Amino acid sequence: MRIDAVRTYLLDTEVAEPFESASGRFERRQHCLVEIVCADGTVGWGESLGPARPNAAMVEAYAAGLVGRDPLGTEVLWLDLYHAFRDQGQRGLTMTALSAIDIALWDIKGKHFGVPVSTLLGGRFRDTIRAYATGGFRPMKGDRVAATAQETAAYAREGFHAVKIKIGFGFDEDVAAVAAVREAIGPDLRLMVDANHGYDPIEAIAFGKRIAEYDIDWLEEPVLPEQLDSYLAVRAGQPIPLAAGETWHGRYAMKPALDRRAVDILQPDICGTGGFTEMRRVADMATMAGVRLVPHVWGTGVALAASLQFMATLAPNPPRPQPIDPILEFDRTPNAFRQAVLKTPIEHERGVVAVPDGPGLGIEIERSALTEFAMKAR
Ligand SMILES: [Mg+2]
Repeated sequence: MRIDAVRTYLLDTEVAEPFESASGRFERRQHCLVEIVCADGTVGWGESLGPARPNAAMVEAYAAGLVGRDPLGTEVLWLDLYHAFRDQGQRGLTMTALSAIDIALWDIKGKHFGVPVSTLLGGRFRDTIRAYATGGFRPMKGDRVAATAQETAAYAREGFHAVKIKIGFGFDEDVAAVAAVREAIGPDLRLMVDANHGYDPIEAIAFGKRIAEYDIDWLEEPVLPEQLDSYLAVRAGQPIPLAAGETWHGRYAMKPALDRRAVDILQPDICGTGGFTEMRRVADMATMAGVRLVPHVWGTGVALAASLQFMATLAPNPPRPQPIDPILEFDRTPNAFRQAVLKTPIEHERGVVAVPDGPGLGIEIERSALTEFAMKAR
C-alpha cells in the first residue's frame, strides 16, 4: 500500500447558548479532522485534540513525510514523524497532530485487513462501554447553579450512571453547584468535578475537603498541569482521588506523573497523546504504576470511535470488572457536527455505548457534513 494524500478538514459551528469552563468560554465548536488517502482508494480518518487551525497546519507539516509511504507501518511512521519535530516538539500541537495521523493510519490498517482496530490491537474485552455524561458547564447567564442541577438531573433520567460537572468559578458557587447537583441526581449516581486547572493548591485542598461529603468520584485538573508538585500537595491534602492527563501528551509527559504518583486516575486523550500507537504504551505504564486509566474524550464522532476501539481492548481489573472497568467520557454539550460527521451516529442507550463493529474505526464519514460545517476562510 502507498499513501497518496493527506487532507485536513476544519469544522466550525456556533454555539447557540455560550457556556464556560474555568479555562475558557465556548462560543464556537471547532475541530480538525484528518483524512489519509491511499493509492488503492482506501481512506483513513483521524482527529486532533485542541485548536483546529494550528493542528491542521501541523498535520500539513507532517504530510511530506507520509506521501509515498506504506500506511501499514504505523510504528515506523510514528517514530519518523515524531523524530521530524522532536527537537522543538515532544508535547503540544506536534503530538495532537501526530495523534490524528496515527488514528487515520490504524483506520486504514483495519480496513485493509477487514477488521476493527480493536481486533488489530489484540481483541475486545467488552463490546459495550458504560458512559459518563460530561456537561455541567456553567451557562453565561441566569441561575447558573440551578441550570447545572437541571441539566444533570436530565442525564440521570436518560440512564447515565455517572455525570461530570465543571468547577473553578469561585469557591462558594462551586460548593453550591456540587450540592445542588448531588441533590438533583440522587445518592446513587457517580459524580465527578473538573476544575480545568482553575484553582491554586490552597483553594483546591480546601475545596476537596469541603465537598467530600457529597461523595465525589474524582477531582479533575484542580491545578495547573505544569505544576506536578501542586498535584502532590493537593492529593495529600484532601480526600478525593485526583485525575488529570488530558494536557499531558505522550509517554514522556505521563512518566513523571506516574513515577511520582501525582494522580490516582490518568486521563490520556487518544487524539492528543499520540493515537493508538502511543496510547497503548501509556495504558501499559498506568497499569504498571497501579493508576486507573479513564481516557479523556472531547471532539467529534471520529474521536469517539477511536476511543471506543481502544477502550474495548483495555484489560479488565480482575477479579472484579465492575465498576473499575473503563468508563467512556461522553460529551453532552452542544456541538452540531459532533454526530453529523458520521453516517451512523454513535449514541448511548441508557448510558451505555456500543463499540462500532465495522472495519477500522468502524465508522463512515458523512461528507456533506464536512462541507456544511466547513470553517470559513479568514
Ligand atoms: Mg477535563
